[in-house]
Amino acid sequence: MNAPVRYLDHNATTPVRPEVLEAMLPYLRGEFGNPNSVYALGQRSRRAVEAARERVAALIGAADAAEIVFTSCGSESDVMAVAGAAWQAFDESKGARKRVVASRIEHDAVRGILRQLYRRGFMVAEIGCDREGVVGAEQAAGALDDSTAVVSVMHANNEVGTLQPIQAIAAAARARGALFHADAVQSAGKIPLDAKAWGVDLLSISGHKINAPKGVGALYVRKGVRLSPTITGHQEKNRRGGTENVASVVGLGAACELARVELERHSARLRTLRDRLEAGVAKIPGVRLNGHRSLRLPHCAHFSFAGLDGHHLVVALDLEGFCVSAGPACSSGASIPSHVLTAMGLEPELASGSLRVSLGWGSCDADVDAFLAALPAAVERLRRLPATARVAARSQS
Ligand code: PLP
Repeated sequence: MNAPVRYLDHNATTPVRPEVLEAMLPYLRGEFGNPNSVYALGQRSRRAVEAARERVAALIGAADAAEIVFTSCGSESDVMAVAGAAWQAFDESKGARKRVVASRIEHDAVRGILRQLYRRGFMVAEIGCDREGVVGAEQAAGALDDSTAVVSVMHANNEVGTLQPIQAIAAAARARGALFHADAVQSAGKIPLDAKAWGVDLLSISGHKINAPKGVGALYVRKGVRLSPTITGHQEKNRRGGTENVASVVGLGAACELARVELERHSARLRTLRDRLEAGVAKIPGVRLNGHRSLRLPHCAHFSFAGLDGHHLVVALDLEGFCVSAGPACSSGASIPSHVLTAMGLEPELASGSLRVSLGWGSCDADVDAFLAALPAAVERLRRLPATARVAARSQS
């Protein structure tokens, strides 16, 4: 009989909660009106979208629901923020602002648009991080100048969970007249967010990381900030074209409301589970615990095991029913070491022996117990593989 599946990869994606699905269903059935239509059917959809906007605003600490723009995912929010701010500043300054600054550990959505901007003539400056994954605020301030259009630093890293000093970096950006974007895709719903108090201009979130469906996200755009649109059209007050994905937007709103109400209890529960899991894993010889010890997300842990390949460990654990990952889901199976671990200065051997475990709604003590029972033997088995077999198997993956 197959072992029960124990899902421990909530940084990759999360299940849709039943309450979220229930909230969405009417908008996948009879309530199919276009929220931009004037008749009653459309206006009911409009009201549902606006109620969801209020809920997203409340979770992230926006001053006004009108500051929330719905998008198709976290990646779109990131691109809309970084490219939209860069193009807008470039145009308004008649080409004087042509520098973009970002940390070296950003998600590929940000890294990809930085490469595009670079190819089109923008200067791109990258800020490094320390061995625990913290991006220095002073270093960030030093990378800025008066030609900077936008600065992008993630709130929490998706691999190691380390939190960044975004409030200080936002202040440094403001002092240079640049906009500041925080990718909060991994931190939203896990720890309190306060976009207004932190002084950020732009902040990205994604539905599928907080128990809403995949394919919906939001971007906080502080009142008064203007972006050159990446998807043109009149919806979302001319900020993002495309008929709103009403059902998913409603789901995102419901998930944000649940996350807001349950945040304190939920994160305390997950922190306790995570700390117990981590203490158990720390007993395995030759393991390194990655990420800052206190400035980090409460629900995830990241390890490096000397003498084995993290992808093999993921497969070995999958055979025993555990869903975990060796790196970000979007680059799973990639044989190059993660850019985050490289930026943190991890030795290549440790970087390639990495494992990320991320807990969430539904995770329980039995998951941690079962994982701690299975992991040491899996590590031991893989370490007994001759090094040549490890390399050969890896180069075929
Ligand atoms: N930013 C971060 C930090 C992420 O972890 C992810 C997804 O893993 C994204 C952005 C992209 O979000 P989405 O999958 O909704 O495009």
